[in-house]
Amino acid sequence: MPSDKMQKIVSLCKRRGFVYPGSEIYGGLANSWDYGPLGAELKNNLKKIWWKHFVQDREDMVGIDGGVLLNPKVWEASGHIKNFKDPLVECKDCHRRFRPDKLKDVSKCPECGGKFTKAKMFSGMFKTVIGPIEEEGLTTFLRPETAQNMFVNFRNILDSTNKKIPFGVGQIGRSFRNEITAGNFIFRTLEFEIMEIEYFIAPDANWKKMFESWIKAIYQYAGKLGLSKKGFYNHEIPAKDRAFYSKRTIDFEYKYPWGLDELWAIAYRTNYDLACHQKFSGQNLEYFDDVRHAKYIPHVIEPTFGVDRTVLALLVESYTEEKIRGGDTRIVLKFKPAVAPYKIAVFPLLANKKNLVKKAREVYDILKNEYLCFWDDRGNIGKRYRYQDEIGTPYCVTVDFDSLKDKAVTVRDRDSMKQKRVKISGLREFFNQKLK
Ligand SMILES: [Zn+2]
Repeated sequence: MPSDKMQKIVSLCKRRGFVYPGSEIYGGLANSWDYGPLGAELKNNLKKIWWKHFVQDREDMVGIDGGVLLNPKVWEASGHIKNFKDPLVECKDCHRRFRPDKLKDVSKCPECGGKFTKAKMFSGMFKTVIGPIEEEGLTTFLRPETAQNMFVNFRNILDSTNKKIPFGVGQIGRSFRNEITAGNFIFRTLEFEIMEIEYFIAPDANWKKMFESWIKAIYQYAGKLGLSKKGFYNHEIPAKDRAFYSKRTIDFEYKYPWGLDELWAIAYRTNYDLACHQKFSGQNLEYFDDVRHAKYIPHVIEPTFGVDRTVLALLVESYTEEKIRGGDTRIVLKFKPAVAPYKIAVFPLLANKKNLVKKAREVYDILKNEYLCFWDDRGNIGKRYRYQDEIGTPYCVTVDFDSLKDKAVTVRDRDSMKQKRVKISGLREFFNQKLK
């Protein structure tokens, strides 16, 4: 049943335009996916809510938008060049590579039964060359994480804003990892988006209390998206499994159809990152604290959120099958209105009646300035409802023959399927209450 649910979600995503397999007409590309029209809306919505919740609504936060390409020295300082590697074995016959610790049987290739080479270290970073001539260019990497942009800009942000510690920097952006293990749909992919915060604090600050308040803010965000607390498991990472500089790390795991797995995380990283950059760059990254009358390298609390994993969690959480009258099953994505790609669908009862279409267009024009609306005049009403249920549209509005006389429309609720007559003049107010 669980893997069955995953298959159903993957198939719905393709059928309705949330997520397509990458480069499909050329036979695809492993671990790569493209977001379709609905997926792009869903993803934008959860990013917008994140940015507002963690950046715009807080006086102690600012946001940046850093580049994917950084000076390769950044990756030396961060330790990625040295440490961001995995030992891999390669099949001598089919040349596929595997992590030995993930293989059930290390004596032969699971794909073709061939023999393996000895394990070699392979970098998880994508290499690229800057400059027109490959041999003379500067070799660098596509960033494998977004955090470094915030560390290398720490001085600039301090000098160009009025922020005083404690304050944080938020960023949403793409990262790239040369993953070789197959990925459970959009769970593990070669390129992905991260929403990340570096929250800078004084070395003697009450970090334990601040850490707790970030956990609270993270659950508030989950609530705004409509992810219920029941789906989460806080995996407290024990000291022996944490990075040596981290004093506390929690993985927020989510119940995916295949079991608990990573969704978000938070870590207290001490002053490791800025101290490394100060050492490697030779630049002073100290902060002068005029409350404490002290100079120090700030410590950092780092909440991290995978965008694509959040999309997946929202799909898993909202996917519902319901038996309805007549023995049929309806598929519904029960998104919270804030994340739903379309908020309202507007239909003329019949597509071939000019006066109905005209009235329905009037209604659509009233609503579309405030909400993303879907216009549909294909097929019959029942089919249109099923379609909107599958893409998670919270409300459908139908203009029928009575509408021409009573200046009212039928509003149908996605979850209860109940219908209600609402005056056209009161529609905006009705939806302002329901959707905002
Ligand atoms: Zn093989």
